[in-house]
Amino acid sequence: MIDPSTSDSGAVSAPKIPVLISGAGFAGLATAFWMTRLGYRVTIIETSGGLRRGGTPVDIEGETIGILTRMEMIEAVRAKALPPRDFEFKDEEDTTLGGLTAASRPDDPSAARYEIHRDDLLDILFASVDGAVELHFGRSIAQLDDGPERVSVAFDDGSQGDYALVLGCDGNRSNTRSLVFADSDAASYYMGGYFYLRVVPKTGLLPANSTQLFSVPGRTAMLNGYDDRTDIALAFRSDQQIDYDFRDKAQQRRLVHDHFDGLGWKVPEMLAHVDADGDFYFDRANQIRMRAWSKGRIALVGDAGYCVSPVAGLGGSIALIGAARLADALQRHPDDHTAAFQEYEAELRPFVEQVQERAATAGMSTLFPADEAELEERNRKIRAGEIDL
Ligand SMILES: Cc1cc2nc3c(=O)[nH]c(=O)nc-3n(C[C@H](O)[C@H](O)[C@H](O)COP(=O)(O)OP(=O)(O)OC[C@H]3O[C@@H](n4cnc5c(N)ncnc54)[C@H](O)[C@@H]3O)c2cc1C
Repeated sequence: MIDPSTSDSGAVSAPKIPVLISGAGFAGLATAFWMTRLGYRVTIIETSGGLRRGGTPVDIEGETIGILTRMEMIEAVRAKALPPRDFEFKDEEDTTLGGLTAASRPDDPSAARYEIHRDDLLDILFASVDGAVELHFGRSIAQLDDGPERVSVAFDDGSQGDYALVLGCDGNRSNTRSLVFADSDAASYYMGGYFYLRVVPKTGLLPANSTQLFSVPGRTAMLNGYDDRTDIALAFRSDQQIDYDFRDKAQQRRLVHDHFDGLGWKVPEMLAHVDADGDFYFDRANQIRMRAWSKGRIALVGDAGYCVSPVAGLGGSIALIGAARLADALQRHPDDHTAAFQEYEAELRPFVEQVQERAATAGMSTLFPADEAELEERNRKIRAGEIDL
């Protein structure tokens, strides 16, 4: 296991070997952190003009707390941690069907759990590599040639480079994955629905530090309330994938209206935010289920290789776990990337598959019941206190 405080004292087995990381999200920044500590010379490229900000808060629990402790970042995370939130399932009249109050969560330190804004964790991770890596925003891989000694990479700005390893940390729609792995498209598993998300300044629609969720068959509206902002989330089921233009925000707004117009609870107020502008996320719920996470000198980390979907609520944690596990495997096999990649995958895959399976089944039916029967069963579990969030 890499200890960042001692890694400069001789544990470095491969000093200044060049490594390319594609993507500067949680997976990319955390991978960069560990690779610099292993003594590699790290280059990160990120297609956006800067860090990609936004999104809902991230849960930090279990193994991720230990990893952030090893990274000496846990205090910074604690300092930014959000207050615990109440979670309530609502009906049309805004009556609470059940849920979990912040006070009822376990007081056991081994069950410690922090929630932190995505941007805050991004800043903490970025600060840990800033100045220690070569970083190019607005750059993407155009072509890769995976040879016996190195990977030759051509970038979309015409520049080129040779690297001992290339680590694809470029998210759900990974460019590295599609350039390298023949099963890239087939690996995207459609979970049967679409979601809209918009983060707006505090709306007053619900108390701070609470989540409220209202479902009818095939449709769920969810609000997250914080001290300074509100997340507006609308999700609907669709058996078939919908052919839409991801650049056409007006078309996406129409799709949301088609599924939510006429619903009660706080949905009309939520739809007013949908109409405000095009500053929102709209996407299908999907997972990435690859046959293998590496090929030759190229490996995938985080959503690029094994996206578990927002339904799992663990995408950020799994990216941090993946980066640490890959680095630990490379430290155990400093001269054998093939063995390291295999070990990384063998050790992490069972956990990832368990999370994916749970999200695709219990997660979907709890958060987005597909039909009357699923909704009834979910509401029965809520009333009986059997829902595990
Ligand atoms: C802006 C944003 C908002 C998000 N909001 C939520 C949310 O609300 N809820 C949730 O559950 N998950 C959300 N996610 C996903 C969540 O961050 C990930 O599931 C999780 O953190 C795993 O991180 P990752 O680094 O593997 O992937 P990501 O966080 O997706 O990071 C991938 C990075 O790679 C970059 N990239 C993409 N293509 C290329 C390319 N061709 N070349 C170089 N770089 C590339 C992206 O710009 C991004 O910075 C969001 C992701 C982003 C980028």
